[in-house]
Amino acid sequence: MKHQICSKCKSDKPISDFHRDSRRESGAARYCKSCKQDYDKHGPNKKLRDKYVVYYLPAHNYIGMTYNLHRRIRAHKTVDKRNTAGYKIVIATRSKRIAHLVETFLHIIGFKGFRY
Ligand SMILES: [Zn+2]
Repeated sequence: MKHQICSKCKSDKPISDFHRDSRRESGAARYCKSCKQDYDKHGPNKKLRDKYVVYYLPAHNYIGMTYNLHRRIRAHKTVDKRNTAGYKIVIATRSKRIAHLVETFLHIIGFKGFRY
């Protein structure tokens, strides 16, 4: 069986563990399926993995909280048609309670939240 080394996790895996990519000579994607899934979920920033993130969208004076910044920012852009340019991370923490407190505090002092 054909094997390939994943460019991300560097493990040697059977070719069936990679998505097909006809643009590549090997016919398989560079990243294995689990690395690809991880990337799709959390984006390139490993530090945000498994963390609650409070973020700021300057164009809307908006503060939001998410467990998945990459996906949320993408949703703001595509689904909500928001301007996400220059977004900032206020805090990234494993504690949902702390993230929620920070978010609530920022809403109290005047930042907007689309749901509120
Ligand atoms: Zn991998």
